[in-house]
Amino acid sequence: MLTTGAAVNWAGNIRYGAARVHRPGSVGELRRIVASADRVRALGTGHSFNPIADTSGDLVRLDGLPREVDIDPRAMTATVGAGMRYAEVAERLQVAGYALANLASLPHISVAGACATGTHGSGETQRGLAAAVAGLETVGPEGDLTVLTRADDPERLNGSVVGLGALGIVTSVTLDIEPAYEIAQRVYTGFPLDRLGADFDAVASAAYSVSVFTDWRGEAMVWLKRRTGGPEDGGSGGAAPEEWLGARLAAGPQHPVPGMPPAYCTDQSGTPGPWHERLPHFRPAFTPSKGAELQSELLLPRGAAAEAFAALRELGELMAPVLQVSEIRTVAGDDQWLSPAQGRDSVALHFTWSQDTPAVLSAVAAMEERLMPLGARPHWGKLTTTAPEEITARYEHAAAFRALLAESDPAGKFRNPYVDALFPPL
Ligand SMILES: Cc1cc2nc3c(=O)[nH]c(=O)nc-3n(C[C@H](O)[C@H](O)[C@H](O)COP(=O)(O)OP(=O)(O)OC[C@H]3O[C@@H](n4cnc5c(N)ncnc54)[C@H](O)[C@@H]3O)c2cc1C
Repeated sequence: MLTTGAAVNWAGNIRYGAARVHRPGSVGELRRIVASADRVRALGTGHSFNPIADTSGDLVRLDGLPREVDIDPRAMTATVGAGMRYAEVAERLQVAGYALANLASLPHISVAGACATGTHGSGETQRGLAAAVAGLETVGPEGDLTVLTRADDPERLNGSVVGLGALGIVTSVTLDIEPAYEIAQRVYTGFPLDRLGADFDAVASAAYSVSVFTDWRGEAMVWLKRRTGGPEDGGSGGAAPEEWLGARLAAGPQHPVPGMPPAYCTDQSGTPGPWHERLPHFRPAFTPSKGAELQSELLLPRGAAAEAFAALRELGELMAPVLQVSEIRTVAGDDQWLSPAQGRDSVALHFTWSQDTPAVLSAVAAMEERLMPLGARPHWGKLTTTAPEEITARYEHAAAFRALLAESDPAGKFRNPYVDALFPPL
């Protein structure tokens, strides 16, 4: 199906320049669209904040393809439609008694779009979402259909999952699964920022998944998502002390963004519940985060955390006019070539900004001037002011990815200006 009208991203700051937007109802229809296109890209749910998904030619949305979740209990994998949102995949896995290891802060995003940009959740032992990918089915430039699996070609898979949408249109993704489990979430407020650097290891390892929210000027709020029966709660479900590391158990439910309704967020009462109803901060039926916002994020080597926190506290006043909230998470290192956590355990420093693009970019530039020298890598789906060649210089597999692009798409059908700037055609 061909849809008309300009497509914009979720935040409304990017108007895609595609001549046509398609919503194919079958893989066969998608293959024909790709085969006859000069330039073509997939659009997931449009939650990226930059023109990564854009094309001057044909944009294809995959949410019209059959929404299949095919569970293989022997392999402990589920093969899911690439355009499906994590919310629906998670719900269907849970009903069948299975789970994913982790989720991002929101379940609204598509599986392929999230993996293509290196999207991550939080947790000392938790890698980015792309690390759970055991296989991909992709439509190539001639409309050809290829299947790539971890078992058959692990190195090529590591190069392809965080593919920035430039290696073809992914039609299905095979994900590692595990038996369903429960999470209990609690929130502590009033965490003193003075303690953050010294106590960060204790904070980050206090639960299966931990998020710290702050504006870098006042105090911090810590969201602890404990896996019940896990080592950090001694198997008890996690009795919560009223006071913890100088912070207090929150008096009631919280939202990460000041002034937003806590009812939009997942349960924080400490009552154990299904993994997918606790790991994301935001419930699928509501707007995640604020909506009127821009975002940027840097992933740094874990050892640089304290130095980065000190720099950000110095920038607190400068960022204040445009910063809504900042989130600190940890991500375990992985092997995906373009994962911002490739080869190193990382601390992820996220910024939810206001929608004043010029003022936000000026704040991002000031922040990146301090943090890029610490070895930071920007999130592929968010805003950055760092030059493309400086970004790719931070990836040991950048040259291999460039070669993979040239081999998989010799005519550059899936390229766009965002990709060209990072990985110029060979
Ligand atoms: C409110 C909010 C909260 C967020 N929270 C987090 C978070 O917790 N952690 C985090 O890391 N990020 C987070 N993000 C960023 C978000 O996860 C990424 O921008 C992600 O790419 C969004 O997925 P999408 O489906 O919207 O992708 P899109 O923005 O639609 O596309 C992203 C890229 O994926 C490609 N793509 C999409 N589908 C396919 C396909 N089928 N085949 C090939 N390529 C494809 C596109 O071409 C494009 O290059 C958040 C964003 C928002 C708006």
